[in-house]
Amino acid sequence: MNIIKLCENDIITLRKNHPCEKKAYDFKVLMVGSDIKIQCVKCLRTVIVPRIKLEKNIRLINSEPPHKSAFGTDGK
Ligand SMILES: [Zn+2]
Repeated sequence: MNIIKLCENDIITLRKNHPCEKKAYDFKVLMVGSDIKIQCVKCLRTVIVPRIKLEKNIRLINSEPPHKSAFGTDGK
């Protein structure tokens, strides 16, 4: 069983495109709960999708790399 971990600000690629554009497969995750609020990165419109429905539609999750954390920085 696969558990899909979604976090806010993740960019997800869906199997189905947003109707605004043929290549609008990328959405930004705005809110995570039993329903997921996503925003089309092309037209910036938001959609609320039930989690179960969305998970079936996800092709890729592009989490932001944690490069912001200041680990191992030698401040000399
Ligand atoms: Zn769109």
